[in-house]
Amino acid sequence: MTAKKKKSRYIPKKISQAVNQKHHFECAWCGVQLTERHHINEFSEGGEHSIENLILLCPICHTKTHNGKISKSELVLRKSTHFKSDRISANFKTSINQLRIKVGGIFYLNSPNFLTYKGEKVLCFEIKEGQLLINLKFFNKKGHLIFWMSENYYWYSSVFKISSGLDFVEILHNKEDFIFKIERIDDYLKIRIKTYLGGKIYDFNEEMTKLGDRFRIQARSISAPSVYVIS
Ligand SMILES: [Zn+2]
Ligand SMILES: [Zn+2]
Repeated sequence: MTAKKKKSRYIPKKISQAVNQKHHFECAWCGVQLTERHHINEFSEGGEHSIENLILLCPICHTKTHNGKISKSELVLRKSTHFKSDRISANFKTSINQLRIKVGGIFYLNSPNFLTYKGEKVLCFEIKEGQLLINLKFFNKKGHLIFWMSENYYWYSSVFKISSGLDFVEILHNKEDFIFKIERIDDYLKIRIKTYLGGKIYDFNEEMTKLGDRFRIQARSISAPSVYVIS
């Protein structure tokens, strides 16, 4: 047995290359092709330089990870499910000036964070340079993240069916009963979403919204910022 050597910060080239290949030389979270390596179990806390423990992230997503905005469990999931061609861009190019959203027969104005669950943003929007950017997460009955969309880039397993056009995006999962549909009608966006949150199914449809007893609507005014909060 040799004396215990101090662990080097240097990641062996072979491992580095394998990690690059595993993530197709792009950020495992958002797909940007400027990448850094991140230790899922922190190096300072004894995390290994191993293919299993390293993930490729762009500088922005890397910062988000260290700030706790992307959780370790989400990274672990991403690590195991990231495979080539599982990321495509939505095609929602409609330019709109303000967020006017209709769901359950009610209009909401300026609700960028539309649906949150226990402080986590499940559905949120942003208008950037005349384009609508959608962020969406689907959790299954057990609470595991199984789909996510980050600024119109999305990742999915093969069971998801996604269609998009110039003014609509539709995402379906027949077996699990997930639905997300957003379409532009004149100057507003109509949303349909059926999703599991905390093991319960919630249905926001066109006519009405089935609110479980755990729903709390913060604001209903069409002029004030509003958001569905489930706590
Ligand atoms: Zn990224
Ligand atoms: Zn890091």
